[in-house]
Amino acid sequence: MTFSGDFTYESRPGRVVFRPGAAVTATPGEAEHLGLSRLLVVCGSRGEEVARAVADALGDSCAGLHPEARMHVPVEDADRAVEAARAAGADGIVAVGGGSSIGLGKAIALRTGLPLIAVPSTYSGSEMTPVWGLTEGGAKRTGRDPKVQPRSVVYDPELTLSLPVPLTVTSGINALAHAVEALYAPDTSPLIALMAEEGVRAMTEALPRLAAEPADLEARGQALYAAWLCGACLGSTTMGLHHKLCHALGGTFGLPHAETHTVVLPYALAYNAPEIPGALTVLRRALGTDEPLHALWELTGRLGAPRSLAELGLQETDVAEAAVQVAEQPYANPRSVTADGVQALLQAAFEGRQP
Ligand code: NAD
Repeated sequence: MTFSGDFTYESRPGRVVFRPGAAVTATPGEAEHLGLSRLLVVCGSRGEEVARAVADALGDSCAGLHPEARMHVPVEDADRAVEAARAAGADGIVAVGGGSSIGLGKAIALRTGLPLIAVPSTYSGSEMTPVWGLTEGGAKRTGRDPKVQPRSVVYDPELTLSLPVPLTVTSGINALAHAVEALYAPDTSPLIALMAEEGVRAMTEALPRLAAEPADLEARGQALYAAWLCGACLGSTTMGLHHKLCHALGGTFGLPHAETHTVVLPYALAYNAPEIPGALTVLRRALGTDEPLHALWELTGRLGAPRSLAELGLQETDVAEAAVQVAEQPYANPRSVTADGVQALLQAAFEGRQP
């Protein structure tokens, strides 16, 4: 990208520990570093075993385990978790798991101001952002609040060894989407471009290795490092059309998060392509190709990821409603967003046509 010397960059506070085994070996030290001695550990039902190991490692500093995280943080789940934190007399929260577990930890932090330690097990990147989300009556609200930004993040590549290949791929592409949209965000900057380029390079190099050998710990580490960079891009910029589309498809039509990002990204990128020459230059370098759009589309297909919204369960009759919803909201996007334009994009994504 050509250098633009006109930007605002706010670095996000927070510590990162990154090493295999860190969930168990580093979390107690992070709690101590933050002066915390009564931590409530939250996780989803599938991640309970790892969360229990973290809770055991915390020893007397663990005030309880709350294994009730679910997708999109229903508000009644948040109420129960806040109650559990209060009942346990917690002075901090440890969230172990994917974006859903970290989302529940953030919901507690939002209401109580308690500090949060995140131990991520997917590539969602939520641990690097001050963004929270809550679902009420079928609608998902999101907001930004520095209170919910984890004070400390413990990256343990061993935690991601159990991620099945399909989720590895879609979660990895979910991370890429943060980096891609950060490149053309209204509040992008040269620092963001650096992180985005390295994040895309590292993730797209790691994913084929993981599809071939899911137990490759070095590739797991590289993907998690990429997720960190991409998550940091998400945390520091304002997302555009791609994230609005995925938010609507997930929130209103119940489509799964990472899979939806995976299907939509090549189409959103194709839609914006005429207006984002700088971002495309970065992506060409990161992907080592003159055709970054085609390369992304080809990569997801080669790795066996879903390619159409139909496969994810969207009804064709919902395409028009989703288009209107996304076109009606005001938000920054490099190319103007029209209902017709979004409808054509979504129809192509619905069918899985080459973008
Ligand atoms: P998730 O946390 O719902 O996890 C998906 C599935 O994978 C779950 O069934 C979970 O139990 C399982 N899982 C997680 N880690 C695993 C592992 N290591 N091995 C095996 N199974 C594992 O999904 P996600 O994609 O990580 O997160 C999606 C949620 O996070 C959405 O609600 C999304 O809106 C939110 N999110 C928020 C932000 C933010 O900045 N606030 C950023 C990204 C995503």
